[in-house]
Amino acid sequence: MRVAIIGAGIGGLTTALMLQRLGIRPTIFEASREIRELGVGINVLPHAIRELAELGLLPRLDAIAVRTRELIYANRFGQEIWREARGLDAGFDVPQFSIHRGRLQGLLRQTVIERLGAEAIRTGHVFRAFEETEGEVIARFEAADGAAPDPVHTDILIGCDGIHSAVRRQLYPQDKGLTWNGVMMWRGALDSEPFLDSRTMIIAGGFANKLVLYPITPPDNAGRQMINWVVTHRMGDGSEPPPRREDWNRASTLDEVLPHAEKFRIKEVDLLALIRRTPAFYEYPMADRDPLPRWTFGRVTLLGDAAHPMYPVGSNGASQAIIDARALCDRLQSAEHPRAALEAFENERLPKTAEIVRTNRLGGPEGVIDEVERRSPDGFDDLDTVISYDERFQIVRGYAALAGFTAAQVNR
Ligand SMILES: Cc1cc2nc3c(=O)[nH]c(=O)nc-3n(C[C@H](O)[C@H](O)[C@H](O)COP(=O)(O)OP(=O)(O)OC[C@H]3O[C@@H](n4cnc5c(N)ncnc54)[C@H](O)[C@@H]3O)c2cc1C
Repeated sequence: MRVAIIGAGIGGLTTALMLQRLGIRPTIFEASREIRELGVGINVLPHAIRELAELGLLPRLDAIAVRTRELIYANRFGQEIWREARGLDAGFDVPQFSIHRGRLQGLLRQTVIERLGAEAIRTGHVFRAFEETEGEVIARFEAADGAAPDPVHTDILIGCDGIHSAVRRQLYPQDKGLTWNGVMMWRGALDSEPFLDSRTMIIAGGFANKLVLYPITPPDNAGRQMINWVVTHRMGDGSEPPPRREDWNRASTLDEVLPHAEKFRIKEVDLLALIRRTPAFYEYPMADRDPLPRWTFGRVTLLGDAAHPMYPVGSNGASQAIIDARALCDRLQSAEHPRAALEAFENERLPKTAEIVRTNRLGGPEGVIDEVERRSPDGFDDLDTVISYDERFQIVRGYAALAGFTAAQVNR
């Protein structure tokens, strides 16, 4: 079977590795001329790590990432609201990893090259359009230098081209575009002193401003780790379009982020010093798209952010792309015809991911700190009088069950 994958991001590369295990040799077409290790930290949850472990990638992940042990939710004064073990410490049979997105992409890319050969990834190929004939799909590209490479003939085409997917645009030319919830995020990472046990994630604040802090590399010989930080600010109600186009690599300035960072008092970390020392950091509006009625049209389908971009709450963007990849490959292995496989894949994954998109809009598990801030914006003496344990449990663990990552759902 000929398979063309559009986009060498987390979803596209993982799909290629899984297809290779089935004896299929896909080709990935990537718009960038070279794959640079872009982005900052992300979390990949056990249900997705299980899939990467089955690809034999655990030792490589351990070399570059952190096995997250604990997650603490707090208000902006650092008062604890919820604390829970993660990964192996929470009873999963595989870890959760906090990792630099670019390094994860680099690891996957290197593995694709080793297992499928360098020619499996064609960089500088900007997907423009496809047409489907009776027995195949013809994909057209523009080279990064403006030339038009030969069209590609394939049996199936998988659009893994991210939040601004051109494959999706062709399927839905009338799409109303990205929806923004009015929240701007500033994201950076730098080598610094570890905090707490060097494997803990802190999410603090509430509806108006949030802070996310976690380490993303193992400590080096000098005991330093890369620390990832995110500061958010709700600038509006989302009825306006974001002030600047959504670009994961848009650089920002201290003037923009410090006024929001100053609202936090987190004793474990000198946040302002951390931000001031960060060589480059980025701004990104919290944007998603409405769930689609269909991803699959004949021999063409969508996967990952191209199919279901979601707000980055609850650590699910990369995780769900990886789970999509597994589901698609399982269906390709078992279905009689590729078209049936792509349809079965959509039937399995579309409802689940649509539900996560919608729940993330309500705050996801972070709804627990939003709720405390709403009820008690100046802090609290006794948390239980603000919100009961049961209510906190319901918000955080209810989300885990929905997104499919309680230990009972994940362990095999
Ligand atoms: C540069 C970059 C930085 C990011 N940084 C972060 C981050 O810091 N935090 C976070 O939570 N998420 C980040 N993300 C998003 C995150 O990677 C995804 O949410 C998640 O991993 C799902 O992966 P995906 O494969 O669906 O999409 P992505 O990982 O976004 O990959 C999409 C790929 O498709 C390629 N592509 C796009 N258009 C075309 C086209 N027309 N033709 C061919 N190829 C195309 C892109 O260059 C990219 O390589 C980033 C994405 C990118 C592209």
